[in-house]
Amino acid sequence: MQLIKLFRGVQIATKNLSIRCYSNDYVPKALRSLKAKSTRNTVQFYIDSYRVRTVGGNGGDGCISFLSAWCKDHAGPDGGDGGHGGHVIFQASNSKKSLNHINSVIQAKHGERGDNKDCTGKNAQHIVIPVPIGTIIKDDAGRVVGDLNLEGAMFIASRGGAGGRGNKFFLTDTQQAPDIAEYGAIGESNFYTLEVRSMAHLGLAGFPNAGKSTLLRALTRARPTVAPYPFTTLRPHIGMIPYDDYEQVAIADLPGLIPGSHKNYGLGIQFLKHTERCTGLIFLLDGTSDPIEQYNTLIFEIGQYNQNLTKRPKCIVINKIDLPEGMKNYEKLKGEMDVIGISAKTGKNLGELLKVIRIMYDNGENKEI
Ligand code: GDP
Ligand code: MG
Repeated sequence: MQLIKLFRGVQIATKNLSIRCYSNDYVPKALRSLKAKSTRNTVQFYIDSYRVRTVGGNGGDGCISFLSAWCKDHAGPDGGDGGHGGHVIFQASNSKKSLNHINSVIQAKHGERGDNKDCTGKNAQHIVIPVPIGTIIKDDAGRVVGDLNLEGAMFIASRGGAGGRGNKFFLTDTQQAPDIAEYGAIGESNFYTLEVRSMAHLGLAGFPNAGKSTLLRALTRARPTVAPYPFTTLRPHIGMIPYDDYEQVAIADLPGLIPGSHKNYGLGIQFLKHTERCTGLIFLLDGTSDPIEQYNTLIFEIGQYNQNLTKRPKCIVINKIDLPEGMKNYEKLKGEMDVIGISAKTGKNLGELLKVIRIMYDNGENKEI
């Protein structure tokens, strides 16, 4: 018999391929983590509206200094100018989809002060904060002051202060030894409200429980929660539909609308504003309960919020045609108006819907909103 010492307290004896373990003080441990779980709340929310304070950097002060060289005691003033403070700039970027990364106070760097020997202080770098394309910037009075709807578009939220001038600047024929310099200006401090509106190309509008989240799950990789009770979706979800020509269409699942949404009932108008930038709307109606009435209510609610929204390209989709009642309503409506019947749950007729979505996207792509 051969004894192999593996590690402290454990020996394995091998004989005729049979393995036995000898242990003195060795206690086997189960392979599970003994570390306490973190109690930190890791839930992340989609932030689409955020109030920020932006503060530009202060300019550097100018310097008062007089040069005294070995050959000339009073060689004149040589105080340099201060550097300029940095701006705070918002820039539309494709890489951001929400405002989660933004701090509530954004402070730019200060300019450096001027120095003797005509040394100008260094200008501070501007802070460029990327925001999603379609971010709207409102000032404290609620006026829209910026609309970043193009990639790379910038908005200077707070300008940095200019650097103060050193005493060299004040040298004149009559004033040969100026002992004055300027302080750097203080950077601007402003409050803004940022709002993301153009989350998606197309939005799914519908009553709670119509199956919007189920449809988004069926069409895209987004995973909004699905449950048979109203207001399961409390925040907008966005999914991308990939087409064969590598075009991607963003679809937003918006929290459900109910009669009175424009008066802030239910989850209110805070999500209606998301529909403003969608180039088209998909009205998803629950086939099992009067779809015409649902459609009229939705159009009314959206129209009350903004009449122009009802004129956007739209398509009407009847969901739940896998249920007999849904099928019956769909058959009835098919003759009267242009509707598509689908079943988000079983995937029936989704190909047809995808074609219509692509046509809506292509038509709406070049339109100014
Ligand atoms: P939302 O409130 O519009 O997002 O609705 P959900 O997607 O959460 O769906 C509400 C309920 O309807 C869930 O229980 C789904 O399983 C159900 N549902 C959604 N689509 C269909 C469908 O096509 N057929 C059937 N039978 N049930 C569906
Ligand atoms: Mg939902």
